[in-house]
This record gives sequence, structure tokens and C-alpha cells, in this order.
Amino acid sequence: MAIRLVLPALICVGAVYGVMYYAAKVQARKDSFTKDELRVIRESPDVMYVTQEIDSLDHIILRKESTELPQAALKGDDYKLLVKKMLVTIQDPSQDGVGLAAPQVGLNRRIAVVQRFDKEGEPFEVYANVRIERLFGDEVDSPEGCLSYPPFSGIVPRRDSVIVSYSDPTSGEKVLESVGGYTAIIFQHECDHLDGHLYIDKADTVFVNPAWESERTSFNYDKPAWLSEINI
Ligand SMILES: [Zn+2]
Repeated sequence: MAIRLVLPALICVGAVYGVMYYAAKVQARKDSFTKDELRVIRESPDVMYVTQEIDSLDHIILRKESTELPQAALKGDDYKLLVKKMLVTIQDPSQDGVGLAAPQVGLNRRIAVVQRFDKEGEPFEVYANVRIERLFGDEVDSPEGCLSYPPFSGIVPRRDSVIVSYSDPTSGEKVLESVGGYTAIIFQHECDHLDGHLYIDKADTVFVNPAWESERTSFNYDKPAWLSEINI
């Protein structure tokens, strides 16, 4: 009789704790970086490994929609460290790109580096919670490649102007900005990454481009073993 009463009660308590544990985990992910994300940020060298579409585990990260980062995380030291490493990675001669999205360094978060060809000095800038709000202007055929899919290039139909939104790093307020020209195309390419798409999904033609590949020096295709152990 006692067992008949105690057992269901234990199952009930177990279920409640299970739900609470899951809810706490979901909340923790919303509030900050996860334990595995922190491992990627802290243990990666300054020039981070760039995920590759042909690698089965990297493919999962590249094809997943990224989530936003809350303001608390944007103010933390780990976000600053990630920004620093993403900037070093994209400007390293081994990569030599014009944009880099967080899934390309193993994190499904809406963070992207964009080279601002529309600003003096053509600086690289990092945007958190970045999205394309509106596409407008002329349709253009954009020649594109991707650090996650060498040595291919493709011709992608794009628009030459966008309105982007992102979080102001200091206030956390949503900022809207109108961008045109080549920089607008980089924003489109990087925001596609954050939605789980690669340029090859939209390209009219894709072809091997050995010249593009040879412009890069000593690209490191070797994936650190510990990166395969984590579950982003
Ligand atoms: Zn890309």
C-alpha cells in the first residue's frame, strides 16, 4: 500500500525537478553563453578555427539558426574576448576575408564581423543581434566566396541596399542603419549565415575558383580535437 502511494509521488517529484532543470537550462542559455560556448571562446587560439561545410559536425552548426545575445552577455568579458578573436581571425592572412559570422567560429549566436567599405579606412566592425530588416535598391549579381566553403565561388542575386538592425553595445538599444554598395552585400552574406544559410543556397552558379584559394596563405583545415567533443 505504502509503495503504491510513494512511487507515484516520487515520479511526480522527479518530473517536477526535470521540468525545473530544463527550464533553468533554457533560461541560462538566454541569459548568457553556455558552458560549451565559453569553452570555444576561451580555449580557441586568437586565430580561431573556421567551420567547414564539408565537415559533418560543422555542417550542423552552419545550418542552424543562431539566437540573440542578451544585453548582460554583451557587456561581459567573454563577449569582448570573442570580438577580439573574431577580428584577429578575419584579418589574419590565412583567412583574409571581408566578413565573418559567429557560426563560422562554432557559435550559433547572432554576431557578425563586417568590413565597412563605406567608411573611411574601411574598418572591420562587429555587430551583435544583427538582422536584415529590409532589402531595397537595385538587383545585382554578386560574385561571392565563403571561408566555410573553399575553394568555390558563385554569382549570387542580391540587392545593393539594406536596412540592418543590431544592438548598440553600450545601451543595448536596437539601432537601425541604412547601408549601400558592397558593404550591404557583406551584411546580406553574414546575416544569411546567422539564419543557417550559405551563399550556395541562393547562387545562380557555383564554380571552383583556384585563384581565390591561392590568394589565401597556409589556411589551416585542421580542426582541434576538443572542438569535436562539444555540443553547441
Ligand atoms: Zn560566408
